[in-house]
Amino acid sequence: LVSREVKPEDTVMQVGNLHLGGNAIHVMAGPCSVETREQIVGTAQAVKKSGATMLRGGAFKPRTSPYEFQGLKNDGLSLLAEARKETGLLVVTEVKDTATLPQVAEVADILQVGARNMQNFSLLEAVGETRKPVLLKRGLSATIKELLMAAEYIVAKGNTRVILCERGIRTFETMTRNTLDLNAVPMLKSLSHLPVWVDPSHGIGVRKAVPAMMRAAIAVGADGLIVEVHPDPPRALSDGHQSLEFSEFDKAMSEVRAIAGAL
Ligand code: PEP
Ligand code: MN
Repeated sequence: LVSREVKPEDTVMQVGNLHLGGNAIHVMAGPCSVETREQIVGTAQAVKKSGATMLRGGAFKPRTSPYEFQGLKNDGLSLLAEARKETGLLVVTEVKDTATLPQVAEVADILQVGARNMQNFSLLEAVGETRKPVLLKRGLSATIKELLMAAEYIVAKGNTRVILCERGIRTFETMTRNTLDLNAVPMLKSLSHLPVWVDPSHGIGVRKAVPAMMRAAIAVGADGLIVEVHPDPPRALSDGHQSLEFSEFDKAMSEVRAIAGAL
């Protein structure tokens, strides 16, 4: 169902009043985790000014260690809803498991399925039963084919609005958090009609290097970007080392617009 052979033309999906896929490039930006009202509303206002059309922010966080910040959970969802009301930005947030799917789906405009859950087949089927758009992130060590098959699980349940997201894979390299596999963008776009997005923040994991990978992702044909932005990255409760400050994000967005305009 996700194959180009079945449907040759690009899928363009309406989410709120936005059209994702096709020619328009969209950027979702925001903190790794929702932390406070000021943080999420302030970030929403700043990224909107810089041209983002959607707000990201985790409320239920799948952390590597059980002792790390796990997110504000339902309180985080309420803060995301407030930030949407203040700014009009659509909200993208991660759904960690089937148990919390109903409450997450109530607030999210787009459900994010994280890399660690890419092959959680019960979760894929459950989000496939909803009619919410899904941002499906590539697993830590998943092949392009496995990502497409994970998308197939969702679409097979009748939910056709799936965005594929490259977010870096595990390689032997230790200098960067992951290796952003930009090969995946033209491969996915030729194999599938679904929109293909890139997450340069988790892909490289080094704040100073994120803008370069934002530009590269657009140049290689990505339909959109998801970028971590925080008002005070050194104090972030998660992923501060890869989060852009407002001014860095603003500059990166002008560069992205220049590249998108030149294509
Ligand atoms: C995130 O977007 O903050 C996140 C946890 O991403 P990933 O699932 O790609 O690691
Ligand atoms: Mn993160």
